[in-house]
Amino acid sequence: MEHLLTLIVFLDTLVLQSADMPKIISNVTPYLNQPCERCGSKKRISKTWTEKLPTLTGTTIVKHSQIVCTSEICQAEFDKQLLEERKKREAMRFNKETKEAKSKAKKNKSGT
Ligand SMILES: [Zn+2]
Repeated sequence: MEHLLTLIVFLDTLVLQSADMPKIISNVTPYLNQPCERCGSKKRISKTWTEKLPTLTGTTIVKHSQIVCTSEICQAEFDKQLLEERKKREAMRFNKETKEAKSKAKKNKSGT
């Protein structure tokens, strides 16, 4: 049994919610018809790809669509922002890990 899911990698939302979980929606068109939140231009699908995921009931085919702005300037600006955001998140994760590692080391030291 196969299910078909459409998964939108909706970059705008990803950044705004700072979540790594993409939105799962059943239809791309409403998102495509919405004007860009940043500049009001039309949106387009920049790339699509499918992925087969094994599930308990069979296989789920997940269709990914990446939607971008048709305005190159707007999209370039957004890509830049996204990259910064990603960098920030990675830095935060790194800081957290080093903090945790440090506090662990501290605990071990005081324990002995
Ligand atoms: Zn735009």
